[in-house]
Amino acid sequence: MVEVQIARRGVHDERVLAALRKVPREAFVDEGFEEFAYEDSPLPIGCGQTISQPLVVAMMAEAAAIAATDRVLEVGTGSGYAAAVLAELAAEVVTIERHLPLAEKAQQRLGAAGYANVDVKVGDGSKGWPEKAPFDAILVAAGGPSAPRVLQEQLEIGGRLVMPVGRERGSQRLIRITRTAANKFEEEDFGGVMFVPLIGEHGWQDNP
Ligand code: SAM
Repeated sequence: MVEVQIARRGVHDERVLAALRKVPREAFVDEGFEEFAYEDSPLPIGCGQTISQPLVVAMMAEAAAIAATDRVLEVGTGSGYAAAVLAELAAEVVTIERHLPLAEKAQQRLGAAGYANVDVKVGDGSKGWPEKAPFDAILVAAGGPSAPRVLQEQLEIGGRLVMPVGRERGSQRLIRITRTAANKFEEEDFGGVMFVPLIGEHGWQDNP
Protein backbone atom coordinates (compact mmCIF):
# COMPACT_ATOMS: atom_id res chain seq x y z
CA MET A 1 0.00 0.00 0.00
CA VAL A 2 2.74 2.46 0.99
CA GLU A 3 4.80 1.98 -2.20
CA VAL A 4 1.91 1.87 -4.67
CA GLN A 5 -0.60 4.26 -3.18
CA ILE A 6 1.49 6.74 -1.24
CA ALA A 7 5.14 7.04 -2.34
CA ARG A 8 4.17 7.00 -6.07
CA ARG A 9 1.59 9.70 -5.43
CA GLY A 10 4.08 12.22 -4.14
CA VAL A 11 4.84 11.61 -0.46
CA HIS A 12 8.60 11.18 -0.14
CA ASP A 13 9.42 11.85 3.53
CA GLU A 14 11.15 8.62 4.63
CA ARG A 15 10.10 8.96 8.28
CA VAL A 16 6.45 9.35 7.24
CA LEU A 17 6.63 6.35 4.88
CA ALA A 18 8.28 4.24 7.62
CA ALA A 19 5.55 5.25 10.11
CA LEU A 20 2.82 4.23 7.65
CA ARG A 21 4.55 0.89 7.06
CA LYS A 22 4.70 0.28 10.80
CA VAL A 23 1.14 1.11 11.93
CA PRO A 24 -1.24 -1.85 11.48
CA ARG A 25 -4.26 -0.13 9.87
CA GLU A 26 -6.42 -3.24 10.32
CA ALA A 27 -6.23 -2.62 14.10
CA PHE A 28 -8.08 0.69 13.62
CA VAL A 29 -10.98 -0.37 11.36
CA ASP A 30 -14.29 -1.80 12.53
CA GLU A 31 -14.90 -5.55 12.57
CA GLY A 32 -15.75 -6.79 9.09
CA PHE A 33 -13.66 -4.10 7.34
CA GLU A 34 -10.20 -5.64 7.99
CA GLU A 35 -9.93 -6.93 4.40
CA PHE A 36 -10.22 -3.34 3.12
CA ALA A 37 -7.70 -1.91 5.59
CA TYR A 38 -4.91 -1.62 2.98
CA GLU A 39 -7.00 -0.06 0.23
CA ASP A 40 -6.37 3.66 -0.01
CA SER A 41 -9.89 4.74 0.85
CA PRO A 42 -11.76 6.13 3.85
CA LEU A 43 -13.81 3.50 5.78
CA PRO A 44 -16.78 3.92 8.16
CA ILE A 45 -15.97 3.91 11.90
CA GLY A 46 -19.37 4.75 13.44
CA CYS A 47 -21.04 8.03 14.50
CA GLY A 48 -21.28 8.85 10.76
CA GLN A 49 -17.47 9.34 10.61
CA THR A 50 -14.65 7.72 8.63
CA ILE A 51 -11.05 6.61 9.17
CA SER A 52 -8.88 8.87 7.02
CA GLN A 53 -7.44 7.70 3.72
CA PRO A 54 -3.75 6.69 4.25
CA LEU A 55 -2.58 9.03 1.45
CA VAL A 56 -4.24 11.97 3.21
CA VAL A 57 -2.71 11.01 6.59
CA ALA A 58 0.69 10.80 4.87
CA MET A 59 0.28 14.16 3.08
CA MET A 60 -0.73 15.91 6.29
CA ALA A 61 2.10 14.34 8.31
CA GLU A 62 4.63 15.32 5.64
CA ALA A 63 3.28 18.88 5.49
CA ALA A 64 3.51 19.13 9.29
CA ALA A 65 7.28 18.30 9.13
CA ILE A 66 7.23 16.49 12.48
CA ALA A 67 10.51 15.95 14.34
CA ALA A 68 11.09 13.13 16.83
CA THR A 69 11.12 15.59 19.75
CA ASP A 70 7.87 17.37 18.74
CA ARG A 71 4.67 17.70 20.76
CA VAL A 72 1.68 17.37 18.43
CA LEU A 73 -2.03 18.14 18.71
CA GLU A 74 -4.47 16.29 16.47
CA VAL A 75 -8.09 17.47 16.17
CA GLY A 76 -10.48 14.70 15.09
CA THR A 77 -9.20 11.41 16.55
CA GLY A 78 -11.75 9.27 14.67
CA SER A 79 -10.40 5.71 14.73
CA GLY A 80 -7.02 6.68 16.24
CA TYR A 81 -5.16 5.57 13.07
CA ALA A 82 -3.65 8.97 12.23
CA ALA A 83 -2.82 9.48 15.93
CA ALA A 84 -0.83 6.21 15.80
CA VAL A 85 1.06 7.43 12.72
CA LEU A 86 1.78 10.74 14.51
CA ALA A 87 2.88 8.83 17.62
CA GLU A 88 5.50 7.05 15.48
CA LEU A 89 6.83 10.43 14.34
CA ALA A 90 6.61 12.63 17.46
CA ALA A 91 7.51 12.49 21.16
CA GLU A 92 3.98 13.18 22.39
CA VAL A 93 0.53 13.39 20.80
CA VAL A 94 -2.65 14.90 22.25
CA THR A 95 -5.71 14.06 20.16
CA ILE A 96 -9.25 15.40 20.62
CA GLU A 97 -12.50 13.81 19.43
CA ARG A 98 -16.00 15.27 19.90
CA HIS A 99 -17.79 11.87 19.89
CA LEU A 100 -17.25 10.03 23.18
CA PRO A 101 -17.79 6.49 21.72
CA LEU A 102 -15.13 7.13 19.05
CA ALA A 103 -12.68 8.58 21.60
CA GLU A 104 -13.14 5.56 23.88
CA LYS A 105 -12.67 3.08 21.06
CA ALA A 106 -9.60 4.95 19.75
CA GLN A 107 -8.04 5.02 23.23
CA GLN A 108 -8.54 1.23 23.51
CA ARG A 109 -7.10 0.58 20.07
CA LEU A 110 -4.08 2.81 20.66
CA GLY A 111 -3.44 1.12 24.01
CA ALA A 112 -3.77 -2.36 22.50
CA ALA A 113 -1.33 -1.40 19.72
CA GLY A 114 1.17 -0.23 22.36
CA TYR A 115 1.07 3.56 21.90
CA ALA A 116 1.81 5.03 25.33
CA ASN A 117 2.64 8.55 24.06
CA VAL A 118 -0.91 9.42 22.93
CA ASP A 119 -3.45 11.17 25.16
CA VAL A 120 -7.06 11.03 23.85
CA LYS A 121 -9.37 13.84 25.01
CA VAL A 122 -13.10 14.34 24.44
CA GLY A 123 -14.30 17.80 23.50
CA ASP A 124 -14.44 20.54 20.90
CA GLY A 125 -11.03 20.46 19.27
CA SER A 126 -11.76 23.63 17.27
CA LYS A 127 -10.71 25.39 20.50
CA GLY A 128 -7.50 23.36 20.73
CA TRP A 129 -6.25 22.27 24.14
CA PRO A 130 -4.77 25.39 25.83
CA GLU A 131 -3.70 23.48 28.98
CA LYS A 132 -1.25 21.43 26.90
CA ALA A 133 -0.13 24.21 24.49
CA PRO A 134 2.16 25.25 22.87
CA PHE A 135 2.49 22.56 20.22
CA ASP A 136 5.15 22.10 17.52
CA ALA A 137 2.46 20.90 15.12
CA ILE A 138 -1.34 20.89 15.02
CA LEU A 139 -3.17 18.68 12.50
CA VAL A 140 -6.90 19.12 12.00
CA ALA A 141 -8.58 16.09 10.40
CA ALA A 142 -11.87 17.86 9.64
CA GLY A 143 -12.61 20.84 7.40
CA GLY A 144 -13.52 24.27 8.76
CA PRO A 145 -14.53 27.58 7.16
CA SER A 146 -11.22 29.13 8.30
CA ALA A 147 -8.14 28.28 10.37
CA PRO A 148 -9.15 29.20 13.95
CA ARG A 149 -6.96 31.94 15.40
CA VAL A 150 -7.15 30.13 18.76
CA LEU A 151 -5.36 27.12 17.17
CA GLN A 152 -2.74 29.33 15.51
CA GLU A 153 -2.04 30.87 18.92
CA GLN A 154 -1.39 27.42 20.42
CA LEU A 155 1.61 26.94 18.10
CA GLU A 156 5.22 27.29 19.21
CA ILE A 157 7.19 29.86 17.24
CA GLY A 158 8.17 27.82 14.19
CA GLY A 159 5.14 25.56 14.74
CA ARG A 160 2.91 24.35 11.87
CA LEU A 161 -0.89 24.11 11.65
CA VAL A 162 -2.07 21.76 8.87
CA MET A 163 -5.78 21.91 8.18
CA PRO A 164 -8.42 21.64 5.43
CA VAL A 165 -10.15 25.00 4.97
CA GLY A 166 -13.07 25.83 2.67
CA ARG A 167 -16.20 27.93 2.45
CA GLU A 168 -18.27 24.80 1.66
CA ARG A 169 -18.59 21.96 4.15
CA GLY A 170 -17.51 19.12 1.83
CA SER A 171 -14.66 20.69 -0.14
CA GLN A 172 -11.51 22.34 1.12
CA ARG A 173 -7.89 23.33 0.39
CA LEU A 174 -5.25 21.75 2.59
CA ILE A 175 -3.31 24.65 4.09
CA ARG A 176 -0.24 24.95 6.28
CA ILE A 177 0.15 27.95 8.56
CA THR A 178 3.59 28.44 10.10
CA ARG A 179 4.01 30.70 13.10
CA THR A 180 7.23 32.48 12.14
CA ALA A 181 7.14 35.00 15.04
CA ALA A 182 4.80 35.78 17.96
CA ASN A 183 2.46 37.76 15.70
CA LYS A 184 3.49 36.51 12.28
CA PHE A 185 1.85 33.60 10.45
CA GLU A 186 2.65 32.40 6.91
CA GLU A 187 0.15 30.38 4.86
CA GLU A 188 0.80 27.84 2.08
CA ASP A 189 -1.69 25.90 -0.05
CA PHE A 190 -1.24 22.12 -0.62
CA GLY A 191 -4.20 21.62 -2.98
CA GLY A 192 -7.82 20.44 -2.97
CA VAL A 193 -9.08 17.87 -0.43
CA MET A 194 -12.44 16.58 0.89
CA PHE A 195 -12.92 16.15 4.64
CA VAL A 196 -15.91 15.77 6.94
CA PRO A 197 -16.81 19.08 8.61
CA LEU A 198 -15.16 20.41 11.76
CA ILE A 199 -18.15 20.89 14.06
CA GLY A 200 -17.58 23.31 16.92
CA GLU A 201 -17.26 26.83 18.22
CA HIS A 202 -14.55 27.73 15.69
CA GLY A 203 -15.81 25.44 12.93
CA TRP A 204 -19.28 24.80 11.50
CA GLN A 205 -22.51 24.67 13.49
CA ASP A 206 -24.00 21.20 14.04
CA ASN A 207 -27.20 20.43 12.02
CA PRO A 208 -26.97 23.03 9.22
N1 SAM B 1 -7.87 11.01 11.65
C1 SAM B 1 -8.94 10.08 11.91
C2 SAM B 1 -8.53 8.66 11.65
O1 SAM B 1 -7.38 8.41 11.29
O2 SAM B 1 -9.38 7.78 11.83
C3 SAM B 1 -10.16 10.36 11.08
C4 SAM B 1 -10.76 11.66 11.30
S1 SAM B 1 -12.37 11.83 10.63
C5 SAM B 1 -12.03 12.16 8.94
C6 SAM B 1 -12.73 13.43 11.36
C7 SAM B 1 -13.04 13.35 12.83
O3 SAM B 1 -13.13 14.68 13.34
C8 SAM B 1 -14.38 12.69 13.14
O4 SAM B 1 -14.18 11.60 14.00
C9 SAM B 1 -15.20 13.81 13.79
O5 SAM B 1 -16.08 13.34 14.79
C10 SAM B 1 -14.11 14.68 14.37
N2 SAM B 1 -14.47 16.07 14.66
C11 SAM B 1 -15.21 16.93 13.92
N3 SAM B 1 -15.29 18.12 14.54
C12 SAM B 1 -14.56 18.02 15.70
C13 SAM B 1 -14.25 18.91 16.76
N4 SAM B 1 -14.68 20.18 16.80
N5 SAM B 1 -13.47 18.45 17.77
C14 SAM B 1 -13.02 17.17 17.78
N6 SAM B 1 -13.28 16.28 16.80
C15 SAM B 1 -14.04 16.71 15.78
